Amino acid sequence: MLGLSHSYSTLPERFFAQVLPSRVADPRMIKYNRQLAAELGPDWAALDDTQAAAILAGNEVPEGAKPISMAYAGHQFGSFVPQLGDGRAILLGEVVDTKGVRLDVQLKGAGRTPYSRGGDGRAALGPVLREYLVSEAMHAMGIPTTRALAAVMTGDPVYREMPLPGAVLTRVARSHVRVGTFQFFAARGDTEGLKALADYVIDRLYPEIKGTKNPSLALLVAVATRQAQLVAQWLHIGFIHGVMNTDNSSISGETIDFGPCAFMEAYNPTTVFSSIDRGGRYAYQNQPGIAQWNMARLAETLLPLIDADIDKSVESANQAVIAFAETFNTSWLAGMRRKLGLRTTEDEDKALIDAFLNVQLVNRADFTLAFRRLSDAAEGPEFEGAFLALMNEDRASAKNWLASWRARLSRETMSGEARARAMHATNPIYIPRNHLIEEAIQSATQGADFSPFETLDTVLSHPFREDPDVPVRYTLPAEPNERVLQTF
Ligand code: AMP
Ligand code: MG
Ligand code: MG
Repeated sequence: MLGLSHSYSTLPERFFAQVLPSRVADPRMIKYNRQLAAELGPDWAALDDTQAAAILAGNEVPEGAKPISMAYAGHQFGSFVPQLGDGRAILLGEVVDTKGVRLDVQLKGAGRTPYSRGGDGRAALGPVLREYLVSEAMHAMGIPTTRALAAVMTGDPVYREMPLPGAVLTRVARSHVRVGTFQFFAARGDTEGLKALADYVIDRLYPEIKGTKNPSLALLVAVATRQAQLVAQWLHIGFIHGVMNTDNSSISGETIDFGPCAFMEAYNPTTVFSSIDRGGRYAYQNQPGIAQWNMARLAETLLPLIDADIDKSVESANQAVIAFAETFNTSWLAGMRRKLGLRTTEDEDKALIDAFLNVQLVNRADFTLAFRRLSDAAEGPEFEGAFLALMNEDRASAKNWLASWRARLSRETMSGEARARAMHATNPIYIPRNHLIEEAIQSATQGADFSPFETLDTVLSHPFREDPDVPVRYTLPAEPNERVLQTF
């Protein structure tokens, strides 16, 4: 018994559609995340790969499961689409995990649903592996995210520009309610639906709000706070989501929907990878502003619930959206101070951080390695070699900056050793570099060889612990011939 339950299905019928996964030809487990399975419960942990593959490819619907797809709307690249919904995702059910947290177990790529429109309801192997690797890497780095429970091959081809092996990803989330879910009801003038959705979300994700004076406003503030903190964490590790549409903006504050996402290598705030992001709307540096814009869209949907007096409603919702900026700035600065090994705060810290980013920019230095080798240098000036070796365009600028950093550190009490330890615990050495992901995908897709995927997944499970047995190339940016310029 996998202990599936269905709180979302207690909502009115217009919230979802009941739908069964479509059968696949030959389910084969690529990877069952046994650590996560154990967190879901002993019955999940006890499944062998064959049993798990049958269930998580959708061929066997577990007893008691009443699978659904969820309705939602969304702004895609700024344009509103009133009807989207899970076009290829099916919520098998919910599980209360061993810590008592209710989690969605969702199959992505499990076949057509009433929301599929022209799509085939399927997923290709490559994107499934990408989502598996990146979401689990985010989790290992301590960033709120949906998790990957499994990747299963279907044995059926999917047709993109060419036939590709099909796969299903099992995604685990605190909830799949999105900003777009609220927009779905707002667009229909369905205030009752909105109220039911807000109550559901507060009950499940923000119980501390229940019974407060204005729960809808408190909900907006809580979601905006989590989103602001989330995007700050993205910037700290160089993550570029790629498709920050409102339907990909989670009410739980988890990173969700790993499509054309990527990690920045050489620091440049205008970096964009997504092939569909032609205007650079979702570039690295635009992410906080976009998240705030998404919160404004959420705020609009909540207006009828916040106050019967529309002017008052607008006024308080506005304040919540404006407060996003402050929350983001505070989180960003706090995280950046940690990255530089600073415990105390000084007014000039922001300038020191900006100056470091500028040193990276002019030197085209790898963002991840710059912080990691700076962490090494925290032990003392004799450990600056690897850091300076990254700065090949204007090394003098890097040396000057190091001097100002050391001057700043001299006003702190921590030992160099303790500082290095703290910095190594916040500046990762292993991130899902695009070319490493690409290599894992290519070898799985073309040669049915999953060993690069397996190795990369293992390396990414300890992002902060440099392991001398891991080949050094797992720490390095792409060579020019390996460079991935676009993601899909
Ligand atoms: P995304 O850009 O991944 O957030 O997807 C936007 C919308 O397209 C969502 O409603 C998805 O469910 C839907 N979608 C994406 N791929 C497919 C597919 N292969 N078949 C059906 N619907 C899809
Ligand atoms: Mg999506
Ligand atoms: Mg997607």
